[in-house]
Amino acid sequence: MKENNSRRSFLKLAFGTLALAPLARVLAAMPKTQKIKDKMINEKTAKKLNYVDVASKAKDHKKYKKGSNCGNCKFYKESKEKGWGKCSMAGNKYVASEGWCKSYRLDKKKVKKEVKKEVKKKG
Ligand code: SF4
Repeated sequence: MKENNSRRSFLKLAFGTLALAPLARVLAAMPKTQKIKDKMINEKTAKKLNYVDVASKAKDHKKYKKGSNCGNCKFYKESKEKGWGKCSMAGNKYVASEGWCKSYRLDKKKVKKEVKKEVKKKG
């Protein structure tokens, strides 16, 4: 009986954690400051570009390639607001670094920077 309870507790915890993963992704994609909220990509532009706030949501789009996101796109300009930057394709409005749209163009310099950061982290 006691073993059953601990197994049940483990399963509850495991499924509870899994259930929170998508929520964490959504929260990460939400703007943290009013400055961002006021200057975010608008709905009309987002629709025109097929913009999504989390790149994996575009996995069925014919132009989407795994690993592509606003953060390594040549139209993305990093800002002081972590996770957010301005996009020249979106009228210099803020987009999520984890986002993606059909106008994505790989910026090789940014990818190299990301790789260098990863290598430094792993030390
Ligand atoms: S053009 Fe690049 S930075 Fe702008 S929304 Fe599309 S993928 Fe993101």
